[in-house]
Amino acid sequence: MTASKREAGDEPEHGFSTRAVSHPVYTTSTYVFGSVAELDAAAALGGKLYAREFNPTTALLESRLASLEGAENAVVLASGMAAFGALVLSLLSQDDEIIVHRTLYSNTTTMTEQGLPRFGIKTVAVDLSDPTNLDGVFTSRTKAVYFETPINPTGDVLDIAAIASRAHQAGLLVFVDRTFASPALQRPLQCGADIVLHSLTKYVSGHGDLLGGALLGRMELIEKIRDRGLRYITGAVLSPMASSLILRGIKTLPLRMERHGSNALAIARMLDGHAAVKWVNYPFLPSHPRHAIAKRQMSGGSGMLSFGLRGGFEAARQFLDNLKLITLAVSLGDAETLVMHPASLALQLLF
Ligand SMILES: *Cc1c(COP(=O)(O)O)cnc(C)c1O
Repeated sequence: MTASKREAGDEPEHGFSTRAVSHPVYTTSTYVFGSVAELDAAAALGGKLYAREFNPTTALLESRLASLEGAENAVVLASGMAAFGALVLSLLSQDDEIIVHRTLYSNTTTMTEQGLPRFGIKTVAVDLSDPTNLDGVFTSRTKAVYFETPINPTGDVLDIAAIASRAHQAGLLVFVDRTFASPALQRPLQCGADIVLHSLTKYVSGHGDLLGGALLGRMELIEKIRDRGLRYITGAVLSPMASSLILRGIKTLPLRMERHGSNALAIARMLDGHAAVKWVNYPFLPSHPRHAIAKRQMSGGSGMLSFGLRGGFEAARQFLDNLKLITLAVSLGDAETLVMHPASLALQLLF
């Protein structure tokens, strides 16, 4: 049920790629017991009676993710947003405050700006690219800091260690959404984060055919989320079939991330020298203002980048319509190259 029981090949002394391979699918909604004594024994283990509480395939995915992350414990959920919901509804309460970076995945922005205030949780958005901006904004009610790195949709990075050390001085928990990098490239817990969130929908599963989310960190924090957030509050468990497909995807994660990174760097270089391009945001370009941070906390670049055209808004829309091989779609992490125009999407959301 927890990450403490590791499968062969998941031990920390093995390399990342070895720990990424090696799984049966168990699908059932409930478990049967031959006697009351057996039932008592299962109940004593924390209620492994029903698939919302325990599934062996899902438990294997959790221990595998924990192993890859170097985390004590992991819990997987039905989607990345289910992970965010379970995180904040398990660890924050009415009258608490949370500080977030001003740019977040669009649905996380909606949740923090509109969802959490309905439950009496205040969100304060700041620019964490300067970690000293934390100092002026936390109060005795602030419980946590939440940010993404690399950031959706820009691909820019934030300095996890610098933000975490300031946040910890103020007694805050540090939550990092690391979806854009995957554990193959970046492990925020080792830079001081308390909990890592990722959407398994993206790079970790890698084939664009399912939704999933994960939270990783210290044993007691993750168990609190599993027991409160997942089991009682949201019930947003991952299906065993999705767990199995994610385990399958993980086998090729290290190879896929290497190729995503080298392809993205080649595209970033090409765009950087192009007359029609005004700016390119890819932290593994040596000219990027936060290249040093990216190199310090990531082992390589991910496949995500953003860029702007000199022609502006209309030129960007025309560019998308002229693409031949690249697909216009939200999401990321699959083998196809996808493109999206957040400025057009933002206008859609306003009306
Ligand atoms: C996609 C995404 C999410 C949400 O994940 P879902 O699995 O789609 O719910 C959260 N954070 C980031 C950075 C994402 O890219």
